[in-house]
Amino acid sequence: MKTLLLSLLSIGALVAAEPAKPAVVRPGRALEAPGVRADFLIQSDRKATVTFVDEAGKPVARGERTVTVKVDGTDVALEPQPNGFITKDPLPTKEPAPIVVQIRAKADAKPANFRLTLDTSLCGGCKRQEYGCICGH
Ligand SMILES: [Zn+2]
Repeated sequence: MKTLLLSLLSIGALVAAEPAKPAVVRPGRALEAPGVRADFLIQSDRKATVTFVDEAGKPVARGERTVTVKVDGTDVALEPQPNGFITKDPLPTKEPAPIVVQIRAKADAKPANFRLTLDTSLCGGCKRQEYGCICGH
């Protein structure tokens, strides 16, 4: 038992000693602001998800956070999930269209606002869908 604990500790020490790795490239569009780290992803069924993640990009519990999503100025109905939210319906087919995602730490907290564009065409540079383009072309 003691040996196991020691080896676990030394693994922990090894991980801690490693230099910071470049951020994991996560699918979709990263939404990051002070105190906020989430991914906005448009699934193949065109429903969009907002998933809260930790520093390593792993999903974390939704907690008290609330999200609103507007597409083209219209609120989209969301359903809670363990790690975030999913739109009740597929996103509108009109592209490009403006999307605003608001994330609040609690219902009455000041929101962090993210503006993106509903555009699922593939970027020629990074081969990701345009709303999640990371090559900044
Ligand atoms: Zn790109």
